[in-house]
Amino acid sequence: MSNILAIIEGHKNLIFQDEETEIKYQQRILICNPCESRKSDLNIDICGECGCPLATLLRQDVKHCNLGKW
Ligand code: SF4
Repeated sequence: MSNILAIIEGHKNLIFQDEETEIKYQQRILICNPCESRKSDLNIDICGECGCPLATLLRQDVKHCNLGKW
């Protein structure tokens, strides 16, 4: 259930962007970019641990990095 809520919140925050969320996204992407679990599929960056697109995963607070990096 929390994964569904995370997907909904991440998509909502991607579409309706606000400054606080975008700052959080920028901080998190600096952690994800060099991460060995980051994958690219059809030019979309995803987390290999949970399979979520980073564009939405990093814009929500329902769930956190599966490796505890953020
Ligand atoms: S969410 Fe965590 S495990 Fe996934 S790519 Fe980012 S830092 Fe790596």
